Amino acid sequence: MPGPRPHVLHEATYRQLRANRPNVAVLPWGATEAHGWHLPHGTDVIEATAIAEAAVERAVEQGAKALLLPAIPFGNNAQQQDQVATIHFSTATALAILRDVTQSLVRQGIDRLVILNGHGGNAFAPLVRDVMLETGATIVVVNFWQLCPDVMRATFDNPGDHAGDLETSLVLHLDGRLVEMEHAGDGRTIPFAIEEIAQPGVWTPRPWSTTHPDTGCGDPRTATSDKGKAFFMAAVASVATMLHAFSEGQKGQSPYV
Ligand SMILES: [Zn+2]
Repeated sequence: MPGPRPHVLHEATYRQLRANRPNVAVLPWGATEAHGWHLPHGTDVIEATAIAEAAVERAVEQGAKALLLPAIPFGNNAQQQDQVATIHFSTATALAILRDVTQSLVRQGIDRLVILNGHGGNAFAPLVRDVMLETGATIVVVNFWQLCPDVMRATFDNPGDHAGDLETSLVLHLDGRLVEMEHAGDGRTIPFAIEEIAQPGVWTPRPWSTTHPDTGCGDPRTATSDKGKAFFMAAVASVATMLHAFSEGQKGQSPYV
């Protein structure tokens, strides 16, 4: 029987971790929110964890000193608080968590962190700027749905924003028993009534339930597990390669300065 995996923090023993000291930690960060009528509330956590876990495994095989941290399950859902059991982390909470995780790691000689983000409402840039200044760590953010645009285009006519073809295909591939395809809506969206606010260069968050009647954005009904697998494999390969290069990078080699 295979033992605990030293590159998965929740499995690794202290002995393994001391023997295989990591230099880059990977933190999946999701959200717990409605995903149409047909996907689990934990979709973003499931996706981010699966991509991070497979990518860390592949990178370690290539020689990276990478470590998968347990996922942060909650994200910013300030505009979905009318939807039952949708848990919101404020930006202040997210900043405090990121700061504490990073500071802990830096004290133990791990000064490289990759956030594997699964949720579009999580805006990490300002948090990362502040925590990097405070801790001296180098933090990289991966928004998984923006990876491998060529594969994305070749695989999906309309990947959708939320609970659409991309996310539904991914969950079908990762754990098909979690998808209630027969309940999937059409993911239709309703534009702002004040049309002038919807133009390039002008932004406000969407009042989600008003603009997304079935909570989805993009039609999920063309999803297949094969499409999910195609994107998953490409995303994992891309993140693994990046992790390996980041782990091998020398101090002073930009952006690890
Ligand atoms: Zn999602």
